[in-house]
Amino acid sequence: MTQLQSAPASAGATISHDTFAALGLTHELVRAVAQEGYVRPTPIQERAIAPVLDGRDLLGCAQTGTGKTAAFVLPVLQRLARSPHTGKVRALVVAPTRELAAQIDERVTAYGRHVGLRHAVIYGGVGQRAQEEAVRRRPDILVATPGRLLDLMEQGIVRLDGVQILVLDEADRMLDMGFIHDVRRIVAAVPKERQTLLFSATIPAEIARLVSSVLCDPVRVDIAPEVTTAERVDQCVYFVAKTEKRHLLERLIREEGAGRSIVFTRTKHGANRLAEQLSRGGIRAEAIHGNKSQGARERALEGFRAGSLPVLVATDLAARGIDVDGVSHVFNFDLPNVPESYVHRIGRTGRAGASGRAIAFCDAEERPLLRDIERFVKKPIPVAGTVAARPTEPAEGARAADGGGRGNGSAERHGDGRANGQPDRAQAARPTGPSTTPGAAAPRPGTPPATPVMPGDSIRRHRSRRYRGARI
Ligand code: AMP
Repeated sequence: MTQLQSAPASAGATISHDTFAALGLTHELVRAVAQEGYVRPTPIQERAIAPVLDGRDLLGCAQTGTGKTAAFVLPVLQRLARSPHTGKVRALVVAPTRELAAQIDERVTAYGRHVGLRHAVIYGGVGQRAQEEAVRRRPDILVATPGRLLDLMEQGIVRLDGVQILVLDEADRMLDMGFIHDVRRIVAAVPKERQTLLFSATIPAEIARLVSSVLCDPVRVDIAPEVTTAERVDQCVYFVAKTEKRHLLERLIREEGAGRSIVFTRTKHGANRLAEQLSRGGIRAEAIHGNKSQGARERALEGFRAGSLPVLVATDLAARGIDVDGVSHVFNFDLPNVPESYVHRIGRTGRAGASGRAIAFCDAEERPLLRDIERFVKKPIPVAGTVAARPTEPAEGARAADGGGRGNGSAERHGDGRANGQPDRAQAARPTGPSTTPGAAAPRPGTPPATPVMPGDSIRRHRSRRYRGARI
């Protein structure tokens, strides 16, 4: 355990922990969170701040969106502020991505504005010079991604022998991204006598091993973030021909009055193309993904945060850890292959108590993916409409493929149309025409009837019938 002095213990049992001051935080920090507009602590802050102030190790099972950053940054700031400067890095925060590292550092700036500690952030993908200089200014707190940190350690620029508090953020993501070995090397380089905080949304076996080797008698705080986050998100799905997805997206962005929107595509190429098409259509959009330079990604994120860029088109990896409040809409332009990703994606909206909309597009080939997602979230996703392909298709073939029905897809989805294991292609091949095939597919029990939406129809017309309040 660290030699830092304990902060005043958390308030006594008679005091409600529903304010930051009651958790034992000093005036400087309470002022800073008030300036951030926070009224009361989130559940993870309520449960983590006091034990961390008391010097305990912590295992936080929580992910982005729960307020976990403040849950560790606030008590770390307080503990460091109450003990003397040593001229060495006293708190090290390790995070998987440069975006997350930059965001944590930005939170340190915000929460620490009245505290007067020095901090620096280092991550790969950009030149090393400026970061070297920042490290030479003897920060009290260093936020780092594993690769760049190890590089600078090997070059003798960063030393970790003065670390009193180690924070490993998003440990499971570090495992996913192949950093677990790097993390172990970093842990081996910090003093054994320290306080350690580890956050991970999930605890696979490898993380459980890491936990038992790096944490000492930890307090465990479990927050069910995915469901909690998703609870505030209204979800729906459109069955839409692949060729109609972009038009539907443009119309929904316009007609829903979408504010900040994140659109998820499966591929980097798809993200680029869609961002260009949207921009050409008058909707400002930028793609962010791993092939973009760090500068381009940062510029896009800044514009998105500032509100000058309304739409980010992202791949899953690029979107990890993006911490932007006020995302009104998440569009799953392509459904993810992994159902967990759906929950991560929609968790970009509905954050910190705000509500949000998550709209999924499902083409004929994606039906099995949708079924997997619904199984994973244990609820059907309400169907908002169906958009058929435009009549560029040869009418004959299309009709033959159509099979005569234009339902909402829910019965098709769960019916025997795919008994042969083949995706239902009827949607993609469906000809346009008057939407006069009511009842072709019965809605699932408990699912409101979906409304066919044909190209050129107004989506607004269907909004009044849209089933809201879908929750998982
Ligand atoms: P995090 O889980 O740390 O990524 O935080 C998610 C978002 O919640 C961030 O934008 C924070 O600024 C915000 N946030 C953190 N704590 C609170 C709070 N107590 N009240 C309101 N918003 C908060």
